[in-house]
Amino acid sequence: RPVWLITHDKVKYDTTKDELGTGNFCTVYKGKYDKGDDQIVDVAVKICHNNEQDENKDGKITNETRAAREMMLSEAKAMSHFVHNYIIQLYGVACDHPPILIVMEYCPGGSLDKHLQKEKDDIEIGERLCYILEAARGMRYLHSKNCVHRDLAARNCLISANGFIKISDFGLSKLMDGKSEEETMDEESPQIPLRWMAPESLKKPKKYSKASDVWSFAVLMFEILDNGEKPWPDWPAKKIATHIRKCTMPNFPEKSPAEIKELVSKIWVQNPLDRPSFRDICIKLWKVLKKSPPPKPS
Ligand code: ATP
Repeated sequence: RPVWLITHDKVKYDTTKDELGTGNFCTVYKGKYDKGDDQIVDVAVKICHNNEQDENKDGKITNETRAAREMMLSEAKAMSHFVHNYIIQLYGVACDHPPILIVMEYCPGGSLDKHLQKEKDDIEIGERLCYILEAARGMRYLHSKNCVHRDLAARNCLISANGFIKISDFGLSKLMDGKSEEETMDEESPQIPLRWMAPESLKKPKKYSKASDVWSFAVLMFEILDNGEKPWPDWPAKKIATHIRKCTMPNFPEKSPAEIKELVSKIWVQNPLDRPSFRDICIKLWKVLKKSPPPKPS
């Protein structure tokens, strides 16, 4: 049995309280996980919507439930391969009986978009640059494992107990085993929010690659520097798509460091091969951070 396969009796959670959030397919609760050797840790427990109920209906499983479960298991399998400071840690998956549970590291700081929207201008520029560098390091690690995230955005970054950014939500990620840098994946994919998509991901067939993650990373930097606002907040989808196709992207807030604006101008370019890698981005960001250190903890 792979180490990531665990059993329900090791996981405690209460669906009547401690809900952390709900996504399209899953609800996440705070819970406890017994790691063995008397080690009980706080965890986030992710459960597919309705999967228990659907299972009980005449013993039949609907196609929708099956699809949601498969998505959940593929997310867990992908996550189980990754161990890194800036990547959410998977403890295991319990599928000895329904519902299937994904048990992962608990991040008390919640999602980055909510944090930015709540704290607004109280967050200093040095701290924002730290979030950006940590997310870039997490992404550099994922890409070193040939994993393309495909849904990088502030809502999919969590804040850990010690204030680190953790890249999360690999539900849409795919491992690109043995593929070279230039190759992209062009499978049909589930709905992905438009504002974070690269021009080549809007075409048919949709193209996702390490370079399209880099494009989404620039949108993530925009969110981080603009208090969790997304680009073009009230625009209709068609107009947004036209702008992305032409690479006419929004201006960064005035207060953003010039080096970040310059970096973004190299990322939001039409040809994916012209975009920098996360390795290049990390080197650049490290230099920017050295000039503008984060505030000392009070
Ligand atoms: P979607 O499919 O719509 O992207 P989802 O169903 O995969 O979403 P998540 O986005 O992963 O669900 O989680 C929903 C919410 O639960 C998050 O916005 C976050 O607030 C909370 N959450 C998720 N994972 C954790 C965690 N490890 N620690 C703390 N809170 C979490």
